[in-house]
Amino acid sequence: LPKIRAQNSLDYYPDSKFYKVEAILRPWRLPQVSSALLNMGIRGVTVSDVKGFGAQGGSKERQGGSEFSEDKFVAKVKMEIVVSKDQVEAVIDTIIDVARTGEIGDGKIFLVPVADVIRVRTGERGEKAEKMTGGRADLHSSV
Ligand code: ATP
Ligand code: GLN
Repeated sequence: LPKIRAQNSLDYYPDSKFYKVEAILRPWRLPQVSSALLNMGIRGVTVSDVKGFGAQGGSKERQGGSEFSEDKFVAKVKMEIVVSKDQVEAVIDTIIDVARTGEIGDGKIFLVPVADVIRVRTGERGEKAEKMTGGRADLHSSV
């Protein structure tokens, strides 16, 4: 499968220091995506089991014009990864590389500006709360 890149201008709107990368993906790709993210220094990830419909699921029901029945929804995982702005594209590219099969149902990524991050244990906010020990920023610091 040839690699592709997300087509992007980097001028996210609204501008924010932090963004949540919210990816709806095929459940069986979760292990590969998680380890790829870990390898690139991502330490904070939240995952939920979800179900939904897009092009892959639900089209028959809509064409039929009848009610949606919940058993037609397709099982997906939702990964939520809050990162600093400069890490967004690397996370998106990694998810695409690892999660993509090229078939309908590979999923979708939503990019959401995050107003603040608060670490409950310490009360820290902003950069201090978002940065994680041994995380990507540490790996890439030139010090
Ligand atoms: P502490 O330093 O107090 O251990 P922490 O920053 O490591 O704090 P945790 O308290 O371990 O954070 O995180 C709790 C949960 O919050 C994680 O299991 C994960 O689901 C979620 N989480 C933490 N950071 C992120 C992040 N950057 N993006 C998405 N989810 C996160
Ligand atoms: N931006 C954080 C760091 O570089 C990592 C955030 C995350 O793991 N989700 O330390």
